[in-house]
Amino acid sequence: MSKNINDFIHQVVKKGTCTGCGLCVGMDESGKSFMRDTPNGPRPVISENHSIPELIRSCCAGHEINYPKLYQNHYGKYPDNWLTGMISGVYTGYCTDEKIRRNSSSGGVLTAVLCSLLESEKIDAAIVVTQGIPEPEKASVVMVGSTAEIQAASQSVYVPVSTLDILNKLEPGKRYAITCLPEQAAAIRVLQMHGHEKALCIRYILGPYTGTAIYPAAIEMFKRINGISNTDRVVSLKWRAGEWPGYLEIITQSGRVLRSPKVYYNFLIPFFVTNASLQSMDFANEFADLAVGDAWSPEFESQGQGFSVVVSRNEQMTALLEDLHLQGVLNLKAEPSESAFSMHGHMIDFKKRGSYIRNQTRRLLGMKAPDFGYKPARIGFKRIMVEMVISTIFVLGKTTLFRLILFLLPERIIGPLFNNLRLRWKKISKKTKRQGLESYEVIITEE
Ligand SMILES: Cc1cc2nc3c(=O)[nH]c(=O)nc-3n(C[C@H](O)[C@H](O)[C@H](O)COP(=O)(O)OP(=O)(O)OC[C@H]3O[C@@H](n4cnc5c(N)ncnc54)[C@H](O)[C@@H]3O)c2cc1C
Repeated sequence: MSKNINDFIHQVVKKGTCTGCGLCVGMDESGKSFMRDTPNGPRPVISENHSIPELIRSCCAGHEINYPKLYQNHYGKYPDNWLTGMISGVYTGYCTDEKIRRNSSSGGVLTAVLCSLLESEKIDAAIVVTQGIPEPEKASVVMVGSTAEIQAASQSVYVPVSTLDILNKLEPGKRYAITCLPEQAAAIRVLQMHGHEKALCIRYILGPYTGTAIYPAAIEMFKRINGISNTDRVVSLKWRAGEWPGYLEIITQSGRVLRSPKVYYNFLIPFFVTNASLQSMDFANEFADLAVGDAWSPEFESQGQGFSVVVSRNEQMTALLEDLHLQGVLNLKAEPSESAFSMHGHMIDFKKRGSYIRNQTRRLLGMKAPDFGYKPARIGFKRIMVEMVISTIFVLGKTTLFRLILFLLPERIIGPLFNNLRLRWKKISKKTKRQGLESYEVIITEE
């Protein structure tokens, strides 16, 4: 038991940088700590008799993860491109099984690869995140041992889910694949680097490109602005239902069906965006073996159905993808490595420069911010100004007054209005946000 560790975790939570990933709880071999749901996502409750090792200090994403060190240790070198991380192969494509593709977030590639790993007995179980467990409005991490269960966990979950608290339930000797968000993947790699027995059972890390997530309170607000009363229970919630890019779909006990296209329900972001989304500098899941995002381009968007951008980070994963392509499980087209970021320039800038500016601003204001061990080599004055506008919107959006205004506006107005404003802002800020991005370089701040 260490009181210091308890204080350390308490400070991360109190100072507002806890990402709710559940790692500290997962590292507590005593099994006495647990995660508790709050309106801001899951938060740890650490037992006084915990057995969390000191190592937590160097893998807690709310405190510090030294990316440069991890690069050296895991890949043996720094990436050629710090925007997307190490790349072995880049593809665009989808899973050829229509059912999987249609039920998935983009092209169903994550689901298909997990199913293949299980079917070929490369893993004993998959650890996935699924909406609807333990109840329709909640999402949880689950360990599954069948392809049907993997398929049932398709689709992105855009609220924070404590995923790594499952760590202390892993059985040494068994082999697992896990889907997790970027800093969670990096945290697992830190543990593996230190020989953590259970983390070493994770043989494959798969994960989404990750832009923004929203607090669970957003669901409550979405229901309220659509006139759903508290007594009308939600019986189903899907974040990416229907034809790609999909819509948020909520069905209630009384039979009400709410559907909001993805581009419209983005209006919830300024009001409910998580601190974890604002502080992370990793968009492309740099320490996952396989990272997958939506293939945002007019060519694919006009076709609907679902297309992914697929990034393999090592030869073993590339060989697996090529094999699945040859077998006809995946339809993949090899792309130049720039494709890993060219469809996502806006969000990559949001993380690689935006998060750094936001974290530095927090520090300047005397607040805590996590340290990732590097910083952008250059950031222009205009880019900092653009960030000040964005951050002001996020700060204001989370105030009671602005949430009240949101509550009073019907979704059919705020959805298209927000989308319109978002597109205009994107156009105005595009030049500044893209400027210098392709020549992005970093300075290692701590060896
Ligand atoms: C919070 C979040 C933000 C995202 N932001 C972007 C973005 O800005 N741009 C972009 O291109 N793509 C983004 N994505 C990724 C995108 O939504 C798809 O997940 C990705 O394209 C993979 O699609 P797929 O069809 O292959 O996945 P599917 O076949 O549908 O499988 C999804 C898998 O991801 C896992 N999963 C879902 N949610 C989570 C979660 N919260 N934590 C851990 N595992 C999870 C599930 O277990 C499932 O196995 C985001 C995803 C998330 C979860």
